[in-house]
Amino acid sequence: MTVYDISALLYLVSAVLFIFSIRGLSSPETARQGNMLGIIGMAIAAGTTLFLVKDFLDPATLGLIAGGIVIGGGIGALLAQRAPMTAMPQMVGMFNALGGMASMLAGLAAFFAPAAFGLLNAEGLISPRSLVEMSLSVTIGAITFSGSVIAALKLNGSIPGKPILLPLRHILNLLIFLGLIGLTVALAMSDGAQSGGGMLLIWIACLALVAGITLVIPIGGADMPVVISMLNSYSGWAAAALGFTLSNFALIVVGAIVGASGAILSYIMCRAMNRSFISVIAGGFGASDGAAAAHGGGADDRPVKIGSADDAAFILKNSAKVIIVPGYGMAVAQAQHALKEMGDKLKAEGVEVLYAIHPVAGRMPGHMNVLLAEAQVPYDEIFEMDDINSQFKQADVAFVIGANDVTNPGAKDDPTSPIYGMPVLEVWNAGTVMFVKRSLASGYAGVQNELFFNDNTMMLLADAKKMAEDIVKAL
Ligand code: NDP
Repeated sequence: MTVYDISALLYLVSAVLFIFSIRGLSSPETARQGNMLGIIGMAIAAGTTLFLVKDFLDPATLGLIAGGIVIGGGIGALLAQRAPMTAMPQMVGMFNALGGMASMLAGLAAFFAPAAFGLLNAEGLISPRSLVEMSLSVTIGAITFSGSVIAALKLNGSIPGKPILLPLRHILNLLIFLGLIGLTVALAMSDGAQSGGGMLLIWIACLALVAGITLVIPIGGADMPVVISMLNSYSGWAAAALGFTLSNFALIVVGAIVGASGAILSYIMCRAMNRSFISVIAGGFGASDGAAAAHGGGADDRPVKIGSADDAAFILKNSAKVIIVPGYGMAVAQAQHALKEMGDKLKAEGVEVLYAIHPVAGRMPGHMNVLLAEAQVPYDEIFEMDDINSQFKQADVAFVIGANDVTNPGAKDDPTSPIYGMPVLEVWNAGTVMFVKRSLASGYAGVQNELFFNDNTMMLLADAKKMAEDIVKAL
């Protein structure tokens, strides 16, 4: 067995570990194990690559690689430890951005130092096939990079979550797309760096960076989950394109796994939010100019019914069935443990307690599942939207804690709403709807929730954890 056979085998082992890792991540019970398999797979893949190239590296380069691992790994570990659970989505966005940037830079490096990557043919030129692959990895990597940075800034609230609609954006995107194709053809027909091809590839990178911005900036907050998983998928395809350039089996396989699983997740999320998959890729979906302008979503001075923890405890205790709807505010307040205690107290009083999870509640897929699992809410009390929506009619109380957009009836009956078409939890069908939140402010999509003003709604205006604790005391 040659060293190349051994490395191919090790790459295969890491690819299999990644597949099992993704399988493990599909359920909260096996997620930790899945994560661990992914870490082992990545360590094997990186170790194998280093082992393969070790003879070609001088001590200074090895030192640079070790320095990169220590500094980059150290910053990553520190950030991951310090980032609060609520900041996870923007962190995932930034990690996506780094993946995209790595593909873009490695594509550029392969072009400008082709000999180091073994990319020169007998005539000392880069083949047209390799040039197209490089263009692909630079293009997808650059789109992923700038798009993910914009998505992370939106998620962080550093730029407004509302759609920013550029004039003639569809024509602009089309021109950029045609420009990228034209430049790639010109690059494939050039002889590589020697004959000015370098400028072509730099233009491709610049245009793709602009494309990432123009594709993501018009997308509104409520549609961000789909964007994040799309960008995740792009970062996978960028890595796969790079894998072809570098003839690296592991990169091709892993890139394809990330690309395909991200695309499947995006498709599932599109279905959950009733969005068209194609519109997501084209950018700026779910936002008409009128809709974006019409929905201010600020505070409202119409009268609402405001209740106290005692009022809520009294109604909850006298109910037969309560459905709890957690949302982003529960994550911010870290109210899941107090909420579980409230649920347990109610169950002890003979009340049936169920939890309803919307697929995009919170700020990342599975956000609520993770928090409820952490509080040890039994899995058989947790229901996905499609399985529980019909049950609100039989519920005495829908207890909405820190959720807003995922209950907004405008998504069903207001065609001008930016979230129109997104399926929502039909909490208004319950006897009483309680909203635990701090004010009448809108949710992430910036759309006012008309339910606050309904006769059967009681607003419990407080921090979610404080209110849940006070209700526990009152019970
Ligand atoms: P929303 O963002 O719609 O609403 C959350 C509500 O929680 C706010 O209205 C806020 O009101 C309240 N809140 C905030 N902090 C607290 C606190 N400490 N105590 C009590 N309440 C609090 O959340 P939803 O979960 O309903 O919807 C998720 C939204 O995020 C959707 O628009 C979705 O598209 C989007 N999104 C989802 C992602 C995902 O993957 N899940 C990713 C990115 C975006 P107030 O300020 O009055 O307290």
